This record gives sequence, structure tokens and C-alpha cells, in this order.
Amino acid sequence: MNELAGQVAVVTGGSQGIGKAICLMLARQGATVVACARKVEKLQAVAEEAAKQCLSGKVQPYPLDVTDREAIDKMVEDVIAQHSKIDVLVNNAGITKDGLMLNMEDEQFEAVLTTNLRSAFWTVRAVSKYMVRARFGRIINISSVSGVMGNAGQSNYAASKAGLIGFTKSVAKELAKRNITCNAIAPGFVMTEMTDVLPEKVKEIVKPLIPMNRFGEPDDIASAAAFLAGSGAKYITGQVLVVDGGLCM
Ligand code: NAP
Repeated sequence: MNELAGQVAVVTGGSQGIGKAICLMLARQGATVVACARKVEKLQAVAEEAAKQCLSGKVQPYPLDVTDREAIDKMVEDVIAQHSKIDVLVNNAGITKDGLMLNMEDEQFEAVLTTNLRSAFWTVRAVSKYMVRARFGRIINISSVSGVMGNAGQSNYAASKAGLIGFTKSVAKELAKRNITCNAIAPGFVMTEMTDVLPEKVKEIVKPLIPMNRFGEPDDIASAAAFLAGSGAKYITGQVLVVDGGLCM
């Protein structure tokens, strides 16, 4: 239960959905989790939920826009100033701006690339400096089955998530000698606010394609993140753990 006791984790997009579940799961295992997102009240609610559940670890809210590189650098410096280390980094913040490629505006493509991919480069570059010194680190990037399979209407999103996979493998190769692992999780269709907005018709088409015949829950992804952060995964790096009920096998 206290697998991550004494560890410090940073989770981006920790205010709701998959990120919130990851924050609570890591805190349940004893970690001090710095939860980052733009909406402070939602982050506060996650911290309160962790305190109410009397988890062995805790969640600390940190307001952050991951499209702001300087703000990311400051967040990392603040966390280091308070805790002296960052053991686990989960790049989970993500957005969609779906549309067919032929009609896609530059802004639609750029915004998704910056939030989902560039931000991960910025956080990993800032955090890994300290992980290298500590000779320890666990980096987990939340990709998507869209990045593995592609998805019509999501050329921007799929490009960002496929980019995360290439980034993950390259970072894994660069940092392996320093005892830092870097892995990606590729969730399938998970029930969160991101997927709530999809038309019922789309959900009806997707569900029968999932061999396990259900949509994923945020905890399904959080369990995978906790595994990759824990000691049981210490010899696993550069991998893409697909958590999708069998959708893209
Ligand atoms: P969600 O419910 O929409 O949550 C997204 C999170 O990202 C929120 O906490 C949001 O907080 C944060 N975020 C967005 N833009 C941000 C920014 N500029 N700066 C900081 N934080 C930002 O989405 P979700 O379904 O939990 O998805 C989480 C991750 O899993 C994403 O990377 C998504 O692509 C991936 N994923 C989801 C599914 C799925 O089916 N749900 C499938 C595959 C992959 P604020 O708005 O407060 O900033």
C-alpha cells in the first residue's frame, strides 16, 4: 500500500478525469503529489478529497498552464525548493480540438501540439535535470490509442500522441543509464469530461469494437501509472502500455 511513501510526484492535468485518478492513486500509495492544472478550485477539491479519504500521501494543488514554458520551469523550481526532489513525473494534461484534416485551421493543430506534446518536452527537460542528479526517476507520458492507430477527425491529436511515443522512447534511451525510466500509457476510450462531449452515436459505434465491451474508467489508467511508478516496473523503460480493453490489439 505504501509503495511510494516518501516519494514526490508531479502530475499535470491533475484536476479531473484521468489525472485526478492518478493523483489520488499515487497519494493512496504514500506519495506527495503536486497536482497541476489551470483551474485552481478543481485542484483544491482533489486535495480535499485526498485529505478526506485519509490517504497516506497527500495532494498539493499547483496552478499551472502547461503551454507556458516559463511557468513550467518555475513550477519545477518551486517543487524542488519545497521537497528537494521529484521522483515521478506524469505528463497527463491534454486537450482535443477535433476536425477533419482538410478543414483544420493552423491554430487547431498548433494548440493541440503545444498542450499535448511540447509541454511534455518542457516538463521532462526541466525535471530530468534533478532526476539525473538523484540517479532516480520515473517519467510517465499519457499518450492514446489514437497515437498508435490514428483516428479520423483527430489528425492533430493523433500526431501529438504519436509524437509523445517517439519522445518517450528517445528519452528512455538517453536516461536509462541514470536509472530513470520513461514509459507511455496509451488509454483507449475512458469515461471523462473529454469523452462526455462525444455524441451518443459515436459511443454506440465504439463500444462494440472494445473486446471487453465497456469503456475504461479513470482508475484503470491510474493503476497502470502507479505500476509504472512503482518498484515492480524498475526494469521497464521505453514501453507503451496500452490500456484499452483490447480495442487496438
Ligand atoms: P479531461 O477530463 O479533459 O482533463 C484534462 C486535464 O488536463 C484537466 O485536468 C485540465 O485541467 C488539464 N489541462 C488541459 N489543458 C491544460 C493546460 N494548458 N495546462 C494545464 N493543464 C491543462 O481529460 P482526460 O480524459 O482525463 O484526459 C487526460 C489525458 O488522457 C489527456 O492527455 C488525454 O489526451 C488522455 N487520454 C484520454 C482518453 C479518454 O478517453 N478520456 C483516451 C486516451 C488518452 P484545466 O482545464 O484546469 O487546465
